[in-house]
Amino acid sequence: MKILVINTGSSSIKYELFDMDNHLAMASGMAEKIGEDTSLIIHKRILPNGESAEKMEGVLIADHHEGMKRIVDLLVDPELGPIQDKSDISAIGHRVVHGGETFHSTTIIDEKVIAAIKENIPLAPLHNPPNLVGIEVARSVFPDATQVAVFDTAFHQTIPMKAFLYAIPFDMYRKNRVRRYGFHGTSHAYVAQRAADYMGQPLVELNLITIHLGNGASMAAVKLGKSVDTTMGMTPLAGLVMGTRSGDVDPALPFFMANHLGMSLRDIDEILNKDSGLKGLCGTNDMRDVIEKKNAGDDRARIALEVYAYRIKKYIGAYFAALGSLDVVVFTAGIGENAPYIRELSCSGLNGLGIEIDEERNYGTGSGIREISSQKSKVKVLVIPTDEELEIAQETKTVLQKTLME
Ligand code: AMP
Repeated sequence: MKILVINTGSSSIKYELFDMDNHLAMASGMAEKIGEDTSLIIHKRILPNGESAEKMEGVLIADHHEGMKRIVDLLVDPELGPIQDKSDISAIGHRVVHGGETFHSTTIIDEKVIAAIKENIPLAPLHNPPNLVGIEVARSVFPDATQVAVFDTAFHQTIPMKAFLYAIPFDMYRKNRVRRYGFHGTSHAYVAQRAADYMGQPLVELNLITIHLGNGASMAAVKLGKSVDTTMGMTPLAGLVMGTRSGDVDPALPFFMANHLGMSLRDIDEILNKDSGLKGLCGTNDMRDVIEKKNAGDDRARIALEVYAYRIKKYIGAYFAALGSLDVVVFTAGIGENAPYIRELSCSGLNGLGIEIDEERNYGTGSGIREISSQKSKVKVLVIPTDEELEIAQETKTVLQKTLME
């Protein structure tokens, strides 16, 4: 069974084609800067033996529809395409950012689902509209494939009310659905399951803290397989320090910025989302550069890393309390997988909670799942590469098989 995973942004379409009979990626790529003068398409054909061939082409792509057609041309290209005809693709798995309270799981897309994703636009005004464009375009280009929506928020819909409600007038929840939703759900779900596989125990018997540290960053407390709390909120601005996002700040800060610094709402939005986090603290949002600067003696980079890791440590403590007991901590995504210094700082001094990292293991190299806790650590600390696209493909396959059985 071939499944195409699509992640549509306002000017881009990212894609990955999977052969779900063996869970292997066959091709991946991205159409970028759609609608601009400098649009381009990058395509990679992946062979079963792991070898790959790439093509990058600067072509004018007027809109998402044209972008999708070009992607299909590459997928069926005699040299670079892994399939012969687009009808070989059974289903399209769409990443949809906000499912609000409507969607608790992966769903086959029909008119009702499209209407519900539209209703959730106020909760994700930058993300849900392009996701809808992706669905519309895929429906017209692949009329015979099943279209499936996989929501970033769905995994966190098990979070109980005491953890998702903000202490503000209740009507804002009842009428406007203001609450914590959480994001990166596919990644948290994927690494939690991989951790359970590694431990050789059912996920429903484990308590985990999953720490996704990419450009965006979030943590989840996963109790007996279910998300019970997460650091992002109604929007992805809350929680951890990120590349350019502040994470948690005093909620009165925007009033100060407006009333005393004369900033507009747009300025404040821009500063907290795009000029804060690591970038705000030390001038660069790329963790590799921040660590390099710190190693070269830059004090601002050092303190930025301390702020970054301290926030993670604080949430590990908070989620330990929320879970009651802890079996596994998982680090994942670009920084979580590749920055041992951040893992070390975040877990230092947590012996009292039974969390102890082994320095040699932590700084050792290797790919795949790695155990970095010491022999005597009560809690296992794992590094697990995330694969959100594979998780979307897997979820898509599962709902497809369910409908075939009905
Ligand atoms: P992601 O959003 O998962 O692609 O992660 C992006 C982040 O991972 C960026 O901040 C990168 O600097 C960081 N990253 C990638 N490779 C490394 C590395 N080897 N060491 C430290 N950070 C890294």
